[in-house]
Amino acid sequence: MARVLITGGAGFIGSHLCERFLKEGDEVICMDNFITGSPDNIAHLFTNKNFSFIPQDVTTYIYVKGPLDAILHFASPASPVDYLELPIQTLKVGSLGTHKALGLAKEKGARLLLASTSEVYGDPLVHPQKEDYWGNVNPIGPRGVYDEAKRFAEAMTMAYHRAHGVQARIVRIFNTYGPRMRLRDGRVVPNFIAQALRGEDLTVYGDGKQTRSFCFVSDLVEGLVRLLRSDHVGPVNIGNPRELTILEFAQAIIQLTGSKSQIIFQPLPIDDPKQRKPDISLARQVLNNWEPRVSLEDGLRQTIAYFQDKVA
Ligand code: UDP
Repeated sequence: MARVLITGGAGFIGSHLCERFLKEGDEVICMDNFITGSPDNIAHLFTNKNFSFIPQDVTTYIYVKGPLDAILHFASPASPVDYLELPIQTLKVGSLGTHKALGLAKEKGARLLLASTSEVYGDPLVHPQKEDYWGNVNPIGPRGVYDEAKRFAEAMTMAYHRAHGVQARIVRIFNTYGPRMRLRDGRVVPNFIAQALRGEDLTVYGDGKQTRSFCFVSDLVEGLVRLLRSDHVGPVNIGNPRELTILEFAQAIIQLTGSKSQIIFQPLPIDDPKQRKPDISLARQVLNNWEPRVSLEDGLRQTIAYFQDKVA
């Protein structure tokens, strides 16, 4: 049994992680300030005696009583719409928040898993993206607040690993979807599903030829747990290599929801990456043949069922 702190534990991915560790009999301490996380995501966990919650902004001093075996640092806005609305909080949680989490890891002798992102590759000039690609990020553009915060977080994590011997693991998470995404978080998955379920037009930004690769949350969580327990510091890409254009994705959503919605085109946000697809050879190699198991169709069906209630 381990004692695990999950920052951002009330968020989309964080709450699935809380559940996973509780299921394995571990003790979970969830920390969140509900800026983008939600009490609804963790309400069902409070009956578990191994679960506790600390309401806190991780950019301020973090204190946790007792020993800790692992810290999973997942606190951050993660949708482009959120980090455009919260630019300073996004920069602060990636920098100051990561510093606090690392300080706690050092103090407790805990292993820290940093949630980094495919956004460190920016608008990539290499395709698919491998971990040794350094990226193409606009530091002063509106998306830069997230990209640079996560790049700094990786640098800080490596510095604590090298200088203080903190056991670190870095994952670069590609587009992930599933139940507990926020209906209004502005990302393409909730936007398109909500629009299709309401019979509204699906808003494709740009010409829809930009690509993304979507990983179902249970596949991601399995990869994260394996990385935490592996000997590999990383960074390791975790994502689903099945790549689609956003237009193809819109069509898939219309088909799976059986909606009569039409597709309309709206302006492309600044610095929106043109293509994104993870090279997952390293994950396969160091994470015991990890690879995604859930097909896009199955994952989307589960996600649509979740959003059906929310839209109603
Ligand atoms: N997108 C879109 N319509 C929407 C929301 C997003 O066409 O209503 C596009 C967006 O411009 C991007 C892709 O879908 O090219 C994925 O966007 P998302 O915000 O989900 O995440 P990103 O991968 O850009 O971080």
